[in-house]
Amino acid sequence: MSDSPSTRVPAYSARDVTPFTEMWPPLERAWHLSCEGQVEAAMALAQQVHDEARAAEDQKLRSSAASHLGWYCFMLGYYEEGILHVLSARDFYRAIGDLPRESWTRAIHAWLLIEIGAPNEALDEAMLALELAEATAEQRALCFALNVVGVVFWMQGQLDRALQFAERSVTLARLIGDRVELGRWLINLAGIEAEFWYQAQTNADAQAGPRSQFQAERGAAYSGMGDAHLLRAVTLADEARQLAHEAGDSWANRLALCNLAEYHLGFGQRERAAEVLAQWDSLRGGDGIRSRIYYLFALGKLQLAEGSLDEAIRTLLECATMAGEAGDLEIGVPCCRYLADAFAAAGQFAEALHWHREFHARHVRKSTDTSLVRSRVAAIQYETRQLQARIETERTRADGLEQINRVLVQEAALLMHASMEDVLTGLPNRRGLERALLEVATGATGNYAFAMMDIDHFKRVNDTFSHALGDEVLRQVAMLLRAATRDTDRLFRYGGEEFVLLMGATDILLAAKICRRIRQAVRSWNWAQIHPNLRITLSIGVAIAGEAIAPVDVMALADERLYQAKNAGRDRIVMDGRGKIQHVAVTSPLIH
Ligand code: GH3
Ligand code: MG
Ligand code: MG
Repeated sequence: MSDSPSTRVPAYSARDVTPFTEMWPPLERAWHLSCEGQVEAAMALAQQVHDEARAAEDQKLRSSAASHLGWYCFMLGYYEEGILHVLSARDFYRAIGDLPRESWTRAIHAWLLIEIGAPNEALDEAMLALELAEATAEQRALCFALNVVGVVFWMQGQLDRALQFAERSVTLARLIGDRVELGRWLINLAGIEAEFWYQAQTNADAQAGPRSQFQAERGAAYSGMGDAHLLRAVTLADEARQLAHEAGDSWANRLALCNLAEYHLGFGQRERAAEVLAQWDSLRGGDGIRSRIYYLFALGKLQLAEGSLDEAIRTLLECATMAGEAGDLEIGVPCCRYLADAFAAAGQFAEALHWHREFHARHVRKSTDTSLVRSRVAAIQYETRQLQARIETERTRADGLEQINRVLVQEAALLMHASMEDVLTGLPNRRGLERALLEVATGATGNYAFAMMDIDHFKRVNDTFSHALGDEVLRQVAMLLRAATRDTDRLFRYGGEEFVLLMGATDILLAAKICRRIRQAVRSWNWAQIHPNLRITLSIGVAIAGEAIAPVDVMALADERLYQAKNAGRDRIVMDGRGKIQHVAVTSPLIH
């Protein structure tokens, strides 16, 4: 495997079915930021969209944002976090049967798995990504998957296979004609070619006996082994750099520059390497810590090759420090080795020993680190699934509870209604009246009026005829009351043969008019149809809002007036002074 992981670049499409298409404008902005090397800003933006989509329970948008996050995490080296994001998106796309996007997310997952040192899992995931892409004949997804499979084989040291897949992806990319994609895939193809050269060098070195990395690097150009591969790597990386430059993809451009400089160095062409690296500063956007580390590493190696030991030591020291701070072991480990060699070449053996020890320490940490990261990711994945299962159970339970609750609420409403309804007349009962009183008291009801109505001598009805006949009278009175009142008026059976009428938006004149209509309707009703001797009349007491403050007091006043009406001879209406006692000829409710 090469010292430089910078050659492995996952590809991306912005114009076809990818997890990144059908984007939210902020996600689109995030993507452009990431292309200009402002990956942290891109990640913050994608995280914001992700959080908002989660709050809005918009799974589709959330998965799109999660795919972005997986990708940016890869770029920044937050592999564990990236895996969690991309897994959630992958599972969603699988669940809804979006095969092309499932392919993309599996491929991104494969990239992340490579980075945490899980090449076998990466291969499984990359092959699945490839199968899905082939099944859907989605060209861009196919390109991406082919490329990932190629890189996984590269990482496993199967260079022939790696080359085969990477070539296919580049051929397809040329057909599709997307500069960003083609540029990035060319970087990887170049990387695989360079790896052929590097292995040829290692073999030549092995035959020549042990040498330091520094000596191997300097001697590389002399062996001539695998030079054809290196030449092609230069050509491909140069084309990639050109494409990245034209597309404004400064992130890929930076990678291409570092790699190209490294390949030129392989040929011992230090001037050309220097020329290439000199373009670094003219690139747009911030370079980010990760690519800065790559740059310092490439520059340090160039300075070493140029024999500028002091400069090389300074550059590599900066690189080693930054890599240490960023937890980057991929560059950090070989960087320490170069530093040790550089100090040794400068005759500073104590320093050389120090950095040699540091190299070993970081190397050990690297092998431990990848397995630690792997086990951590496995644990996190497990816990996440457990948590999801718990949430699911909880949700099902909550759904069940909600269902039960709905039924209970409905039943309660029915019971409530039943408890407030009088069975005999179908009118709301006294409980209903109490609720209405409360509403009147708390609501901003304007003018209202209460009428208390009581059937005259009703006891006699029961006594003379029958209780059943009395019931029928009550029903018919209720019917007459309904007919004589407005829709906005509310009637209640207060008890026995007493009724309450709550009139809304009513002044004293209107209340009087309604009550007169009621009284007239009852007394002139053809009661003979129930019994030839039956006559029914009502006494009514009325009070209006403003005569007392609390509605309950207004009603009490109406009740008081009802008794006045009774005392005054029945079959009449009593209101306040202005309403006057409606005196009518006393008629016996019953014709004896
Ligand atoms: P007043 O003119 O003073 O109101 O005399 P009244 O006889 O109407 O008044 P009282 O309060 O003395 O009698 C009311 C009667 O109403 C007594 C009770 O038997 C009868 N009653 C109460 N509820 C019902 C009922 O649901 N059905 C029947 N049939 N009668 C009832
Ligand atoms: Mg009564
Ligand atoms: Mg009565």
